[in-house]
Amino acid sequence: KPSIVWFRDDLRVADNPALRAAVDDGAAVALYVLDEESQGIRAHGGASRWWLHHSLAALGEDLAALGIPLLLRRGDAASIVRKTTTSLGAGGLYWNRRYGAAERTVDAGIKAWAGEAGLHVASFQASLLHEPWEVTTKTGGQYKVFTPFWRTVSAQDFREPLAVPEEGHGFTGELPAYDELDSWGLLPGKPDWSGGLAEMWTPGAAAGHKRLADFVADGLSNYSEGRNRPDTDGSSCLSPYLRWGELSPFEVWHSLGSRRSESASIFASELGWREFCWHQYFHNPELATANLRPEFDRFPWAWPGGGTGDANNSNGKHPGHESAPEEFRAWQQGRTGFPMVDAGQRQLWHSGWMHNRVRMVAASFLVKNLGIHWQLGEQWFWDTLVDADPASNPANWQWVAGSGADASPFFRIFNPEAQRVKFDPQGKYIAHWIPEFGTPEYPEEIVDLKTTRAEALEAYKEMREVH
Ligand code: FAD
Repeated sequence: KPSIVWFRDDLRVADNPALRAAVDDGAAVALYVLDEESQGIRAHGGASRWWLHHSLAALGEDLAALGIPLLLRRGDAASIVRKTTTSLGAGGLYWNRRYGAAERTVDAGIKAWAGEAGLHVASFQASLLHEPWEVTTKTGGQYKVFTPFWRTVSAQDFREPLAVPEEGHGFTGELPAYDELDSWGLLPGKPDWSGGLAEMWTPGAAAGHKRLADFVADGLSNYSEGRNRPDTDGSSCLSPYLRWGELSPFEVWHSLGSRRSESASIFASELGWREFCWHQYFHNPELATANLRPEFDRFPWAWPGGGTGDANNSNGKHPGHESAPEEFRAWQQGRTGFPMVDAGQRQLWHSGWMHNRVRMVAASFLVKNLGIHWQLGEQWFWDTLVDADPASNPANWQWVAGSGADASPFFRIFNPEAQRVKFDPQGKYIAHWIPEFGTPEYPEEIVDLKTTRAEALEAYKEMREVH
């Protein structure tokens, strides 16, 4: 009887415990379901769909090299997994765990069904270095502060990555009907905005491994300084590969070897932030739609376009309320008149990625100087980032907004001009993304930094005084 390995956020054949189990159990068939129907599962943004398309194409090739067919199906995962299992007469069903609440509900339902149907069903840890329910504080709760969290997690011995299975374990019998990748329409039609993405990125595990090897060889030793410099290639650019599971965190961790220079420890702790974001998301499934610190429900964020924002927030006090829709568009399109913000937003739109330092500056500018709700920024990033991550994106937005776990205090307001001078001292980053900088074509500043900063601090003070 064949076994099914159900791929999700783990689009790789190396270090894949579910694939290993399927291969050990019998002839393997791989399945990927594009699930846009199950309740509560967040639909992919545009840049993610582009990445997913290419990543699935690469996975299909990697599996084909092992003789394992990849079935693609679109629809509600529970019924597709059941149907495929039944029509193949499969004896085993394997997957690597996911950690979102809606996804876990789907998986638990399928597991119960498969158990009753007498299938051999098992799930594995592959996408995170820690299982969020296993790592608890002394009192048994979730961690809300990064440093003790990471101290606990990183004290563990993380398993070595698993090798790619050998060829010859693929199922060669008749397959049920499946979809053509192209029929899913994941790639943009017209206008095709994906040229810049393709310039910067090659999705797929092979490219991920190459980038990891290059970074460990060339970038890691200078990471502690280089990571802050958007004008250099100082950070690893591994985020989309980790997001889609083309690289496993175990592979990345072990590639650092046992040497723990300052740079290697800082890099390892960035992997720790990824774990911490998922820890928060596991314990707070509403991370993208609710402030972790509820006092921020009283903060008068603007919600341009109205509608879905919290009605209590529309007291009109915060600067930018009337002009918020136009300011929001200027922010999205990189024409705020603040070059560090604009360069970042243009980099994002062009390449599907923005440097971390600039993400912080652009996000702070949106929520503090423009007074616009962090959820709108989160949604924009969700749509435009190739590494758009259900945990890291909202957790970082809440970190910047001050409403999150172990967040940057609200009163720490980045000055985009000071950040530019410090982190792009020769203006290389700005010149690259804003060729018209310094000419009359470059837009005027849309707000005054000093006034908006003072207004934001005042709104924060009022929010706290209500108690
Ligand atoms: P490196 O500096 O080389 O770090 C290595 C890896 O560590 C990254 O690939 C990533 O997996 C992880 N990492 C680093 N910093 C963080 C962090 N602060 N939080 C979580 N993981 C981290 N990262 C995402 O992967 N997806 C997102 O959707 C996302 N949204 C963000 C939104 C905002 C407002 C901010 C401020 C940050 C966001 N980040 C997000 C975190 C960070 O900016 C990116 O992970 C990083 O820029 C990716 O580039 P890199 O791979 O070169 O990072």
